[in-house]
Amino acid sequence: MARIQLMPDHLANKIAAGEVVERPASVVKELVENSIDAGSTWVNIELLEAGLQQIRITDNGYGMDQEDTEKAFHRHATSKIKDENDLFHVRTLGFRGEALASIAAVSRLTVQTSTGEKAGTKIKFEGGKVIEESKSDARQGTDLFVEELFFNTPARLKYMKTIHTELGHITDVLNRMALAHPDVKFTCTHNDKELFRTNGRGDLLQVIAKIYGMNVAKNMVPIEAETLDFKVTGYIAKPEVYRASRNYISTIINDRYIRNIALNKAIQQGYHTLLPIGKSPIVVLKVEMDPILVDVNVHPAKLEARFSKEKELYEIVETTIRETFRKQTLIPKVEQKK
Ligand code: ADP
Ligand code: MG
Repeated sequence: MARIQLMPDHLANKIAAGEVVERPASVVKELVENSIDAGSTWVNIELLEAGLQQIRITDNGYGMDQEDTEKAFHRHATSKIKDENDLFHVRTLGFRGEALASIAAVSRLTVQTSTGEKAGTKIKFEGGKVIEESKSDARQGTDLFVEELFFNTPARLKYMKTIHTELGHITDVLNRMALAHPDVKFTCTHNDKELFRTNGRGDLLQVIAKIYGMNVAKNMVPIEAETLDFKVTGYIAKPEVYRASRNYISTIINDRYIRNIALNKAIQQGYHTLLPIGKSPIVVLKVEMDPILVDVNVHPAKLEARFSKEKELYEIVETTIRETFRKQTLIPKVEQKK
């Protein structure tokens, strides 16, 4: 007798959730990514107890109609890619079609969404199962309400750190999102107190000032370089403004924050001997490239990337930074006349 069975969906989703939803910050990241992919210019985040009790994300994006809302919570359901070819040309932040199914599988989730044309759709899930469906108002956009994260995965719940630590992870996610998307307005409260806010006016330096403070922003130098394959922009802090941790380097590829050790190293080498040993700079590096040159399908959290022209990329990053400082020291600053 055959012993193999296909898993029921809700079980498969719960297993996938183990990878996609590591902690509350992962939920915030996935949901904010969805809001941005939906063309939102404003994303509001309301947290209770560092997201363990509640994560509510409201956006003004294009919303979903009833059919799409029902489909969106199935595993591998996505509007972002259709075939293999699309997979090599990903421009959106999401494409795996896993986040909503995974988050719904390990929480009590309510979605309320509308395309703005007619009444919206409201669906309530518990542990991934639909428990209620009804109509909602026609405000264009999406509202996702996630309560009691990990209520049905006790081992994961137990692994959660203090409120302080979890909130730190969320703040980190929001900081990088805001740096990658200065043209989106982010507002966030934690336990009804304001945690974070940007104005969405598209000014990267203003976002940097908001996150790292005015003093850092004043000491940031813009960078710009272009080759056939890459366009590099962003801001680098003068060497005298350094930090002890590498966490102050943000590398953003095609509007997605990613982590890449070799790219960080190229940045560090661009500073050469200007930094004290063991210290790291504050950098917001943005690179635009043809999506065919970057593979973000490395890990379910989409935090890592591989580049097919990596040597060229590291080289342009390193030289751009080095040249920027060289020019700065060669050309003396002209004092402004009073
Ligand atoms: P992915 O983002 O990889 O496509 P998700 O599970 O995160 O997968 O979302 C599934 C689909 O649900 C998306 O492709 C999108 O069509 C839709 N969706 C999710 N969130 C939103 C949102 N905030 N606004 C509009 N559509 C959304
Ligand atoms: Mg997504």
